[in-house]
This record gives sequence, structure tokens and C-alpha cells, in this order.
Amino acid sequence: MTRFVLVPDTTLTYDYRSFPLLDFLPCAPSRMVPDKIYYFLRGRSPPHKPNGELLVAPYSIRRLEVSLRRRFPERDIAVSAEDMLQNFIKDDTSIIAVSTMDPLGLGPTTMSYYALFGGELYAWVWKEWDSLMARINALRRGKKAKLVVGGPGVWEFAIMRDMVEKYNIDLIFEGEADDILPDLFEQIEEDAIDSSMFSHGHLAFDENFRRVLQKDDKFLSRGVGTSAYPKVEDIPPIINPAQKGMTEIMRGCGVGCDFCEVTLRPLRYRPVEDIKQEVRVNLRGGFENAWLHTDEIWGYKHGKMFEPNEEELLHLFSEVQGIKGIHHTNPTHGRISIPAAYPEMLKKLSDVLDAGPHNWIGIQTGVETGSDRLAKMHMPNKTLPLRIGPDGSWQEIVWQGVYNETMYYWRPAFTAQVGQEGETVEDLMDTIAMVNRLSNSYAGQRPFEFTITPLVNVPLGRIKAKKFNFGGLTKEQLAVYYVSYRHLAKMARRDGYRDSRGNFFVRASVGSIISFGGSLMLRTVEKLAVKAGVDIEKIKRYGLPHTKEIRTLATLTRA
Ligand code: SF4
Repeated sequence: MTRFVLVPDTTLTYDYRSFPLLDFLPCAPSRMVPDKIYYFLRGRSPPHKPNGELLVAPYSIRRLEVSLRRRFPERDIAVSAEDMLQNFIKDDTSIIAVSTMDPLGLGPTTMSYYALFGGELYAWVWKEWDSLMARINALRRGKKAKLVVGGPGVWEFAIMRDMVEKYNIDLIFEGEADDILPDLFEQIEEDAIDSSMFSHGHLAFDENFRRVLQKDDKFLSRGVGTSAYPKVEDIPPIINPAQKGMTEIMRGCGVGCDFCEVTLRPLRYRPVEDIKQEVRVNLRGGFENAWLHTDEIWGYKHGKMFEPNEEELLHLFSEVQGIKGIHHTNPTHGRISIPAAYPEMLKKLSDVLDAGPHNWIGIQTGVETGSDRLAKMHMPNKTLPLRIGPDGSWQEIVWQGVYNETMYYWRPAFTAQVGQEGETVEDLMDTIAMVNRLSNSYAGQRPFEFTITPLVNVPLGRIKAKKFNFGGLTKEQLAVYYVSYRHLAKMARRDGYRDSRGNFFVRASVGSIISFGGSLMLRTVEKLAVKAGVDIEKIKRYGLPHTKEIRTLATLTRA
């Protein structure tokens, strides 16, 4: 008997050839990436035991598993591979729980493709979700098992509400559940939801970005106060290996960007011993890299005015990197202003992490805009402890950050938003200038190492408060896409083969597809931009007369 069957979102289970950024492949429209190319690039199927239990699963599923194991015996719970579900979904199964990130393709990266190409809203993420739901519903037909969906992507069902019925979903849970999951599952089994613990409804946002509960019988949530979140001692270490060697080091952020939901959650730092325990668990799954999940690494135990805590950061990274068998450690996300202002600290971290030409430290960073005005309007604290004005313009801070990162072998994957509230043509031209300048800059002999992905601004809170309505990209927004894809194509040509994993033939294939795909995407975006009236020759050079000065820009004051 398997009482609880835990199922990951299919798109989170593949290895995407371990190529940087290829994890975003399922965000592409399904009609534009042929099946054969998609199935090749998504890489290996996730390994499982002979009975179908996954040996490696996405981190979110591992969190559910360990929460349940605090109350229920191992035999009650299975983390199943998608094509082995028939081994677990039986007459006595009570809950099939699926965790998802972007089931209907409304996430920002997926939407950015939709904004660019228009047409049917059917990305690979949705196509994969369709087939997962079809498989689960066929297996549960005539049985008592309830289908419960959770994870960061569930807000999409509040937007496309009819999909709840279409997929025959019994309940959608929204929020963090580490501490209360066993209670939740028992209550769902018995059809007896305790209203002092859970509310029927989902969180929405009013015009002032305040959270309000929208009543809905198909949704369950925990409310909005700090009691709606688990304390750090209620987030136990995972017990089985997580995809990509991921471990979570903290939750929440607090920097306060006005488009970001993470900032509204309380800050919690996990103990280093728990983090190390998880890294060792992942090592058992064959991961010699530790991927430290956080929405803002530089906020880890930060000081006043969001000054980074060098001592604690060095301690964390050296403890993780010092684990026998770990060869590479990197955080998931971090702001650019800290590398800009603290090059010495960055260098020390690079020494600890053994960074070098064959070991770049990847980090995702939201630079969002090249405009001082928009940066101050939407993310006034993102530069702290630097200040736009006294410490330079936002573009100078970003430039200095990438300079220091390239010097010390850190490679940021930037996002830039278009469609931010209050955006003007001048703001977009500032972003174009920033991308061109970064793309043509050097740290010593090394060209700046970064990628940049343009996104359409989809403020989750506001999309919950209003209906999604998009009229396509303006000429200048398309120009931002164009310069970003121009830089991405350049990076794909430069790094496509070097960063691929596998034997010679696999690397050659992946490298060629990436490089070809980068050029193809650039040509496609260029065509759309030209059609919209973008002066490509002007846009390519926009902001570039200062190339010489860029090479010699003085280090910012804090350094
Ligand atoms: S710094 Fe990043 S995680 Fe923090 S509030 Fe801003 S966007 Fe959100």
C-alpha cells in the first residue's frame, strides 16, 4: 500500500544536459521547438529504483517527503517517476500530491516568449503538464485517491480557474507547509479541514500590494501572518537526494522590491549543520556540486543597510566546499551591488570556492533595467549599501559588479524586465545602452562574462488582482529583446561547446544546437524588430561611444 504518492512536475526532473540556462527550455512555445530537439536537449530521464521510486527528485518534493516522514512510516510514502506511477496509485492510495512551478506557462520566462511570438499560449511546460495530468487521471479513475497540487506555480490556477476542473484537481494548496503537512494530509484524507489552521481560498493582492484572501473552495491556504510560515526548526534536512545537488540555505529576503513576493515572507536562515547534512545526502545521489538555494545570497545574515556579512558567508561557503567529495559550490541568486562594492570579499569567496577559468561560479541576478529612474522607483534598496547618485549611476554599479565578477570568475545570469509600471521609451533606451556596454566590456583581457534574458514584467500580485491582458511588445521593448538576444548568441558561440557536458559527440551536438539555436533566435528576434520599425544598426551601437572609458571606469567608492 502506498498511502501518499508524491509526484514532481516533469519539467523539473530532467538534467538539461547540465548546460547553463537550458533548464529554461520548457518555457519555449511547443510549436517552435520540435519534439525531437526538445527531447534530446532535456537530457536523461531521472534515475529510479526498479520499483519506480525516484533516486533523485526535485528539492520541493524532497521537502514534502521529509515533512511526511516525521509522522508516517516510510512504506506510506513514495516519490514516483512519472512513467512508473501505476506501481503506486492503487485502490488504497489516499493522496496523489504534485508539486509544480509553472504548470500553465504563465511564469515570467514563459510569458516573455509568448509576448515575443504571440500565438497560442502553449509552452512545453504546459504540454508536459497536460501529459502528466492525463496519466495521473487515467490511473486514479474509479479509485478514492485525491489529487492535490502545491508548489510555487499554483497561483496560475487562480488566473486560469477553469483548469482546476479540467484537470480534475481536488485541492490546491498555496504556501509553505513544512510544519503542517502531516496535519494537512490527514485532514484531506478525512474530508475534515480544520478552519483554525487553513482557509478555503487563495492569496490575492489589492492595488497597494497588500495580501488579501480570495475565497475559493478548491484552494487552501494558511493566511498571511508570521504564523503562516514554518519556523526554521520546523524545516528538517531532506533525507534523499535532490535534483542538481540543491539545498536551501534561507527563506525570505527583505530588500523590498515592489514586484517581488519573496520579500513579503519572513527571513529565516537555516543552520549550517543542516545545510551540510543535505549536501552529504545529495553527494549520495552523485552530486559533487552544492547548489545553495536562496533568493538573495548577499542577504545571508546581513548587517545594517544590507551590508554583506563576510564572516558568515565565508564560513558557510568554506564549510560546504570543505565537504569531502564536493568540487563546486554556487548560490542560486544574488544582487549585483555587492560584487560591485566588495571586490575583496568576492575574491576571498572565489579562493574558498576554487573559482577559475574551468570553474566559473554561476549566479542569477535581476538587474531588471538600465534606468536610474526605474531602479529607484521599483527596487530602491537593491543597490544597498550603495546608493544611486552618491555611488554612481545604476548602470555604473552594474558595470562594476560584472567587472569584479569576471575578474574573480563569477558568471551572472541576468534578467531584464520590460513593461514595468511607469516605464518610458527613455528607460528602455537606458537598458539597451547598458546591455551594449556590458557586452562590449573587458576585465583585463577577459570579455565580460554574463548572460541576459529579457522578461515581460508579470507582477504576480497585480496579475492576481487583475485579469492578464497583454497587447504585444512595443518597438523599444523589442529593441531590448534584440540586444539581449544578440549578446546571448555571442555567449552561445563563445561558450556553447566549453560548457556542455558528456562525451565528445554529446558535447559537439549540444554545443552546436546551442550555438545554432542562439543564432536562429537572434535572427528571429531581429526580423520581428525590423518589422516593428527598429533601426537595427542604430540599436546595435546605442550607448557605445564610451567603449574606451568603460574599460577604465574607476572602482566604486566602497571598494
Ligand atoms: S532583492 Fe531579489 S529576492 Fe529580494 S526583494 Fe528584490 S527581487 Fe525579491
